[in-house]
Amino acid sequence: MVLVTIQVKGVRHLDQIKIGKFIKECRNKNNLTQNELAEKLGITDRAVSKWENGRAMPDSSLMLDLCKELKITVNDLLSGEVVSVNNYNENSEKIILEMVKEKEKNDKLLLKLEILIGVVCISIMLALTAVASLVTMEESLRILLILIGLVPLLIATPFMLKIEQIAGYYECKECGHKYVPTYKSVNLAQHNIGRTRKMRCPNCNKKSWQKKVISKD
Ligand SMILES: [Zn+2]
Repeated sequence: MVLVTIQVKGVRHLDQIKIGKFIKECRNKNNLTQNELAEKLGITDRAVSKWENGRAMPDSSLMLDLCKELKITVNDLLSGEVVSVNNYNENSEKIILEMVKEKEKNDKLLLKLEILIGVVCISIMLALTAVASLVTMEESLRILLILIGLVPLLIATPFMLKIEQIAGYYECKECGHKYVPTYKSVNLAQHNIGRTRKMRCPNCNKKSWQKKVISKD
């Protein structure tokens, strides 16, 4: 399965620069060089340098190990400072909210990207079909051109379906439950123009037309 991962520049609610400085500060406190820290985590020192410059965030799969090496909590890491126990709950809530907001923003962008991919692919198809039907050429070349015009759409369709599956949620018309469906159910679902799909709700088990929503609440 091809996973669609997209780095969205400019969408940075978590203060990457502050987090980067904090990582560097903690690394120095623990007397580790970038190289030593990288070795302990099984990554390159370039990755560590990228974090510290605020150009990238540590991958979520590395966060626990990183925090262990730096002797801080994940909450400290994402806050870019040591969070006192008193502020802990408030702070984690803030972080969760920011992550939800960030996901919603990214999901909106993904859905726009899906439309863009669709428009580009269909334009290529129409352009080649137009050339094939308007320009004088051999019949075999004509058929070949039309077939080539279909290729981008065929290649892009799984990506577009993947975006529909993972971006935002589908809302059940019957019970209001919001969920992320499986790739298979999105792929097989009957749908009309737009993103509404006829699927079985995992909560109430009824089949209905379910629309795409960005926010869970
Ligand atoms: Zn339902």
